[in-house]
Amino acid sequence: MASSDGAVDDASRIRREIEALKNERSDIDRQISDLETQLRGLQSKTEVVHNDGLAAHGLSPDLIYRHSRHLMLPSFGVQGQSKLSKSSVLVVGAGGLGSPALLYLAACGLGKIGIVDHDVVELNNLHRQVIHSEEYIGSPKVESAAAACLKINSTVLITKHQEALRTTNALDIVSKYDIVIDATDNAPSRYLINDCCVVLGKPLVSGAAIGMEGQLTVYNYKGGPCYRCLFPLPPPTTACQRCSDSGVLGVVPGIIGCLQALEAIKIASSVGEPLSGRMLLLDSLSTKIRIVKIRGRSSQCEVCGENSFFTPQHFKGFDYEKFTQTPLSVAPVKLSLLTPDFRITAKEYKQRIVQGEAHVLVDVRPEHHFKIVSLPNALNIPLTMIEQRVGDISSALKEKQPNSSGSSPHLYVVCRRGNDSQRAVQLLHKLGFVAARDIIGGIESWAREVDPKFPTY
Ligand SMILES: [Zn+2]
Repeated sequence: MASSDGAVDDASRIRREIEALKNERSDIDRQISDLETQLRGLQSKTEVVHNDGLAAHGLSPDLIYRHSRHLMLPSFGVQGQSKLSKSSVLVVGAGGLGSPALLYLAACGLGKIGIVDHDVVELNNLHRQVIHSEEYIGSPKVESAAAACLKINSTVLITKHQEALRTTNALDIVSKYDIVIDATDNAPSRYLINDCCVVLGKPLVSGAAIGMEGQLTVYNYKGGPCYRCLFPLPPPTTACQRCSDSGVLGVVPGIIGCLQALEAIKIASSVGEPLSGRMLLLDSLSTKIRIVKIRGRSSQCEVCGENSFFTPQHFKGFDYEKFTQTPLSVAPVKLSLLTPDFRITAKEYKQRIVQGEAHVLVDVRPEHHFKIVSLPNALNIPLTMIEQRVGDISSALKEKQPNSSGSSPHLYVVCRRGNDSQRAVQLLHKLGFVAARDIIGGIESWAREVDPKFPTY
């Protein structure tokens, strides 16, 4: 026992040391990139003085060399590059879409990039949010993203907005940029960003990726439609998925995010034809990309239409969470549908297992979730199948012996986070299983409160 305790102590000491060294390394990286930025700034100032006659387009020898492959493109050239260097883009969300968009925007030679994000880097972000790395887990995404951008190009000006975009700060932040990229994943943010862009007259490059599919379009560009012209009313809340709930193949937002950078670069440099009034639909499973024509600006649009009176004041007073029936925060919604009598905590459930209580545990997650990880002896009946599979629950209960107290076996329900389990219990009560109870917070609280080694996803 003593030697295994010693090994555990050693392991935690080493982990602490690694953590401390990683923190030191990030600090040093940041200091280096700050100093490099300062140095580049000084160099470009002296170069301009020496090359006054040559650099009519404002590009220093360093920048000419850095962007030579852009400059050699006949359709892009010095003119496109020069416009880029005077433009600014705001990227809202440094996640799956924002990651590739920001990397390419930093590389391309834009004058200024703004990054809005209130979140921190987590391990389960890294399969798609390629701007972040393991050393930044637990750090703010804006810090991680800004450091990655500056590593590529220390001459770009980066402004970090470590906050969620809300009606209280959006006008102020968005007004500082020429073009906006919506790289968020929820309905209230989409409406909020759209309306803010309409009010301030900014083009909006909008992207979405969910599962194996992606979408891209440009709103509010030179008389083209805005998001509300197409979707005057928000979708039903159940149709509004987020990748934290439904999964996403990492490379799909990667592709859409790159396309968002492309559209922003085209608008900033006045090169090519931005994807306004059209929408790109990507089906990654069949590798099909379709461009569909979408409706033009609607004269009836509440925000950009002919008779619209949507002012900055209206924007500030608009309740986007209420309008879309969805919270702005990315924190998962916690429902409370049952009275405390019909709920037990993960710890209480563990005690009942230890006491040998006769019971049946039904896990109502979809089958492919159940395959990732499950609690011992759980019976998987997805929420949508409960009515069809009532018989399975009855048989499972019958197979159990009554408890020593004589009471019949208990019925518990679990899911991932404790919302679907409550819906299932409500349904089971209606179906006659009147004592069914749910495990509060699902397998996530089991992992948190009972077994820290239990995998979460
Ligand atoms: Zn509109």
